[in-house]
Amino acid sequence: MARQDADVVVVGAGLSGLTAAFRLARQGVRLRVVEPAPRPGGVIGSVRRDGALYERGPNSGLDTTPLVNELLAAAGIGGERIDASAEAARRYILRDGVLSALPMSPPALLSTSLFSWKAKLALLREPFVKPAAADAEETVAGFVRRRLGAEFLDYAIEPFVAGIYAGDPEKLSVPAAFPRLFALEQKYGSLIRGQIVGARERRKSAEKAKNAAVSFSFREGMQTLTDALARGLDIDYGVRAAGLRRDADGSFVTECERGADRFELRARSVVLAAPAYEAARIVERLAPDAAAALEAIVYPPVATVASCYRRADVAHPLDGFGFLAPRRESPPILGCLFSSSMFSGRAEPSTVLLTTFVGGVRSAPLALRTEDELAADVSTALRGYLGARQPLWQVVTRWPQAIPQYTLGHLQRVAAVERAEAASPGLRFCANWRGGVSVADCIKSAHASVEALQPFLRQPASTA
Ligand SMILES: Cc1cc2nc3c(=O)[nH]c(=O)nc-3n(C[C@H](O)[C@H](O)[C@H](O)COP(=O)(O)OP(=O)(O)OC[C@H]3O[C@@H](n4cnc5c(N)ncnc54)[C@H](O)[C@@H]3O)c2cc1C
Repeated sequence: MARQDADVVVVGAGLSGLTAAFRLARQGVRLRVVEPAPRPGGVIGSVRRDGALYERGPNSGLDTTPLVNELLAAAGIGGERIDASAEAARRYILRDGVLSALPMSPPALLSTSLFSWKAKLALLREPFVKPAAADAEETVAGFVRRRLGAEFLDYAIEPFVAGIYAGDPEKLSVPAAFPRLFALEQKYGSLIRGQIVGARERRKSAEKAKNAAVSFSFREGMQTLTDALARGLDIDYGVRAAGLRRDADGSFVTECERGADRFELRARSVVLAAPAYEAARIVERLAPDAAAALEAIVYPPVATVASCYRRADVAHPLDGFGFLAPRRESPPILGCLFSSSMFSGRAEPSTVLLTTFVGGVRSAPLALRTEDELAADVSTALRGYLGARQPLWQVVTRWPQAIPQYTLGHLQRVAAVERAEAASPGLRFCANWRGGVSVADCIKSAHASVEALQPFLRQPASTA
């Protein structure tokens, strides 16, 4: 076998690639990581300004799997973790221009004015609605209309889907985007029955449902996690992987670009942790079917706007996690997090920090407006919904291709990628377009990718 530059080349130093690289490095695997940006973290980025701390991308993670705390402990940042305040359990939904608290318990659901009696009665029918066939791939909207009715779709699920995926429930696939919901229906015949019985089973497995899990961040923001994972790794910043080929001896050759320079990295194994559209270009020649599947995964644009106000200039008590704005309300924003209510240390005591999301599949062109226009749109929206007067400052971050959409056919696309992995042992794809988009899901997928590589990496190099 020709001389190797590393055992494994990891392409992309976002959370997925860093988690995989960190775990591999701890096993003594020789690694090279390539990343086009000048810093690690991908979409994760925390910034201090004037006594505030804002996030450009993810604001929090959900502690849905024990792997999260295991990783934090291994990275030495368990003590940096902070959990969302108790009041962040309250989430608001915009209805008829007014923010109403989302009911979080059965009595609260009965008494809320957020949903009509017709919608509440539809819930009583839910346990008796027949499950779909196991092989039927339904959209999230179709699934929710069938089981819970149109009003829950419009005022609970659609805004929630916009909050997680910046996505459209009429396009997302239930088994791909919400596998737990799909499994609840398949296993228990009902979401409500499944919630009750499933909670007991999850207690045994230590996994938590997203609605029961704690939101966490770190004293210095989400970037604490990716910075800690990156520390000690050999990362080539400013380097983009452009292609991948296999040599006769089985080595993977990653074709890299640093500005106008070209060079190659030879390794026994490659973990592709770049977004799907980039991974598609990289494997175009090696695995054309997988490339076509990856190319079909759509990423809508999202803009985040951090806005700092004097506390006295915001009328709303900001006593919660934030609010979601359903499409039915034709809002100019997807929703807004009350960042300084969620976590301590996000703003000076006399100020508040709000993080607003704009765009997504629902209103992509809005996310592409200029920074000044976005800042102005958000101030106007927050004035209307929260009674927020002039912000002290605002910072806009635009993500032209933000979050992968698990639309109908997604599982077949992932299956095409799995066939490419089976055909080229040592090749592994690991990013947020697979296994879930959330922070915890990326950690879980990266863990699974490292596990999947173990038998291959344990083989002697000459036979691998
Ligand atoms: C605005 C926003 C808000 C979010 N909020 C939350 C939240 O609050 N909670 C939550 O759980 N999740 C949230 N998410 C989702 C979640 O945080 C992300 O899915 C996760 O961080 C993605 O990690 P990743 O490594 O898979 O991808 P990325 O972070 O996109 O990293 C991919 C990396 O690959 C690199 N790369 C690209 N092309 C190449 C190439 N050719 N060669 C080498 N490297 C390449 C990129 O530069 C990047 O560093 C949010 C996402 C966004 C965009």
